[in-house]
Amino acid sequence: MSSAPESGEYEATVGGDRESVDAGTVESLAVTGERCAVDVTPAADEFRLALAGDHNSVRVRGNDETVVLDCTGDRNSLSLGEEMSLRRERDEGEANSISRESFETESEPDLVQTTRDEAYAGLGWFGFDLVSYQTEIERDHCQYCGHDAERVIERREEKVLRLFGLTFTLKTVASSDECSFCRVSANASVDLSDRERREIYR
Ligand SMILES: [Zn+2]
Repeated sequence: MSSAPESGEYEATVGGDRESVDAGTVESLAVTGERCAVDVTPAADEFRLALAGDHNSVRVRGNDETVVLDCTGDRNSLSLGEEMSLRRERDEGEANSISRESFETESEPDLVQTTRDEAYAGLGWFGFDLVSYQTEIERDHCQYCGHDAERVIERREEKVLRLFGLTFTLKTVASSDECSFCRVSANASVDLSDRERREIYR
């Protein structure tokens, strides 16, 4: 192996032999192993990639980022997203191949985690309750975070009264837009935070 990248220079390093690694979403990656299969998603517009080992197969699942390649290894195969560009800082290896691939963008994580039906199904038999749910709305601009987004949903909270198993929606307590830019993380509750409620009423 010739001139391995200095450790610390790259956010992630994949070493070893015949490993299959998903390096995650990182700004830079050094592949120093042999015969490894590596998947990586760029976290920077200029994604630095060092190929210092041999016989590795690396897939960079990017969209329109630039791969800045420092290649000193041999017989690696590099696969880039169709729209990505490539800049070779150093290309000293032999018999390396580069191809393009269309990575089907995996269906966007569903923004709606709790539908109205689900929220109402969880209610008790009697009494006042506050339900929180998310619903699709026709809007291409998120009023909460200000981003233009392909899909915007609305998080709503309603005060309801349950009587003998019947549900009366008394009033909408609060609602807030949500989009993929400001989405609530997958395991968080869809309830609005106090801060959000304040912002809505401001
Ligand atoms: Zn948003």
